[in-house]
Amino acid sequence: MTNPQLPQLPDRIKRLTDLAYDLWWTWNPIAREVFRRLDYGLWRQTAHNPVLMLRSVTPDQLAVLANDAEFVRLYDAAIEALDRARGAQDTWWLHQFGSGSGPIAYFSAEFALHQSLPIYAGGLGVLAGDHCKESSDLGLPLVGVGFMYPQGYFHQKISPEGWQQESYERLNWAEAAIEPACTQEGHNCIVPVPLGNRSVLVQVWRVRLGRVKLYLLDTDLEENAPWDRELSARLYGGDRETRIQQEIILGVGGVRALKALGSSPAVWHLNEGHAAFVVLQRIRDLIEAGQTFDGALEEVRRTTVFTTHTPVPAGHDAFPFNLVETHLAGCWGTLGAYRDRFMQLGAYDNGSGVQFNMTALALRTANGVNAVSQLHGVVTREMWGPIWPGVAEEARPVRAITNGIHEPTWLSNELARLFDEHLPSDWRERHDDPSVWTAIQSIPDDALWAVRGALREYLFAFIRERARSRWREQQVSAARVVAAGTLLDPNALTIGFARRFTGYKRPELIFHNPDRLRAILNAARRPVQLVFAGKAHPADETGKHHLQQVYRHAIDPSYGGRLAFIDDYDLHVAHFLVQGCDVWLNNPRKPLEASGTSGMKASVNGVPHLSIGDGWWAEGFTGENGWLIDGQAPPDDPEATDAADAAALYDLLERQIVPAFYDRDAAGIPRRWLAVVRQAIATVAPRFSARRMVREYAVHLYAPALWTENVSR
Ligand SMILES: *Cc1c(COP(=O)(O)O)cnc(C)c1O
Repeated sequence: MTNPQLPQLPDRIKRLTDLAYDLWWTWNPIAREVFRRLDYGLWRQTAHNPVLMLRSVTPDQLAVLANDAEFVRLYDAAIEALDRARGAQDTWWLHQFGSGSGPIAYFSAEFALHQSLPIYAGGLGVLAGDHCKESSDLGLPLVGVGFMYPQGYFHQKISPEGWQQESYERLNWAEAAIEPACTQEGHNCIVPVPLGNRSVLVQVWRVRLGRVKLYLLDTDLEENAPWDRELSARLYGGDRETRIQQEIILGVGGVRALKALGSSPAVWHLNEGHAAFVVLQRIRDLIEAGQTFDGALEEVRRTTVFTTHTPVPAGHDAFPFNLVETHLAGCWGTLGAYRDRFMQLGAYDNGSGVQFNMTALALRTANGVNAVSQLHGVVTREMWGPIWPGVAEEARPVRAITNGIHEPTWLSNELARLFDEHLPSDWRERHDDPSVWTAIQSIPDDALWAVRGALREYLFAFIRERARSRWREQQVSAARVVAAGTLLDPNALTIGFARRFTGYKRPELIFHNPDRLRAILNAARRPVQLVFAGKAHPADETGKHHLQQVYRHAIDPSYGGRLAFIDDYDLHVAHFLVQGCDVWLNNPRKPLEASGTSGMKASVNGVPHLSIGDGWWAEGFTGENGWLIDGQAPPDDPEATDAADAAALYDLLERQIVPAFYDRDAAGIPRRWLAVVRQAIATVAPRFSARRMVREYAVHLYAPALWTENVSR
């Protein structure tokens, strides 16, 4: 083992390190059970981090476990399942496409795999992580490429005034499931990347996810200058200069790293424009191998897939040409003769003059392009029209592949066990088949209601423990202990709102009419409570102001402690919230939410979505599986829209949601409520699964790229 800080394990259970070092464990119940049984206290204390647990268990404990028949049986089963997952020959991909193709390289600036590896900020990272996990399950030959970020994304604290404070903690690599990646000769993989007139060394780390491997780039090497060591330190932490340098490292460095590792991808998937410099290095390599510029561009196009993720203009990186010229100075090689042609590939005027636009570069150099929901497809075809001059809107080559979530990651154990009893026995393998879910009608109401109650209890236990630790460790005021959720009632209707705090997501919409909201929250016998969580991007002052306003309400006694803000939102908090709330609220300004995924996570857990008809909900809402907020205000009048949407939201709560939740029969069961819960699960679980999504990527984008390549050989 490469981690010198791990203890010597007894022979009988020595592959616990394999299990801990393959994040496959995170979505496989049997492996999770091994670590829970290992030491339940440590499991909780480390927020589910087996690498850290293995560093902390005592030799005596290990000796006892190695002789514990029950533990050893579980261990054997988990190891066998891991080996089967890594080596399986009967995967969907193999059945469909055979074993002949080279790997699919999936590039993303962030990956959300587990809370112990804080290399993600939000939705984009979760999508990338879920894509990789599902690719492992379906057997796709995928390798991921991203950043290691030794300081990751920030941790959030809230000041007494409600202002977000960011702190960065250095990740101790010995406490996370990452290892140095090795070349075929067995050396640590380190590649030089030209930046401006210098060369920066990039070390490559490896993360295992079943049959998928993820390679993470890191510039924090002693040989590099101090400012270069900092380049990959933080996710979205720096200015424009840092950003473009990071993108050169990801794109150019990523291609070089794969080559150094002996991998030759057949398809290159750029998840968002951040990674678009991949095409620069690839065109250069092809020219240096004897191709013409046009031939190289053609080859790159045929084998590049690009996914765009947002209609918000600020979400598309664009740089002044001089900045690009400066930092790409050392990257050209033989491609230098065609520098102007390359620069033209990125030239785009997004309203503030022509700049080098990473999305434009990707759109012009990828054959397979997709948006992330049906509605986002329409918006993208309209928005990027100048890329395809003279092409009618419907004919512009942007497909829609609606996002999905990796269900084994997001579905609660308690519900999965209920499904084991009542759904067809192969429901896990076939969870993207809608017919599997019709059997949800056979789950008895009382059993379903009991699970929903248990999940709400877990959420409140989690919230209380977090509030307790803030109280104990930071001596926060009593009002802030209330704002952390200590007065929440585990039997009351609980609405969750957790996502990045930013203007277009309108976190304050529900406070539009505070008196009406207070009446809803404090209603006698039918109280409603609200739980908020989310970080604002460090540079987003507007987002921080929204957060502050929400926090001020949370410490305001007139809301009766029925309003909580949970700090430091991450995957761990997200799991508790999407499983334990009763309703999931989403009220963006349409059409700015390209897809959204947290509502899918909630729905599959029986937490129906209460949302504007934007993103995935525009195609997901059936009339019976949640609620649609539709203020029907005239377009282009933001203030009227806010007022109308808020009023529509209150109406839904007062007339439909609160009565359905609190009307109980003689046995105390809310029958009407459970009908919505069932519909939410049965309609969302198959259609908005990462399984359905990855299959669509494979069939519509990866396979055509592989197939044309094979023909040309
Ligand atoms: C799912 C998830 C998101 C994305 O949420 P949206 O509602 O789609 O914006 C962001 N952060 C975390 C931690 C998540 O788990």
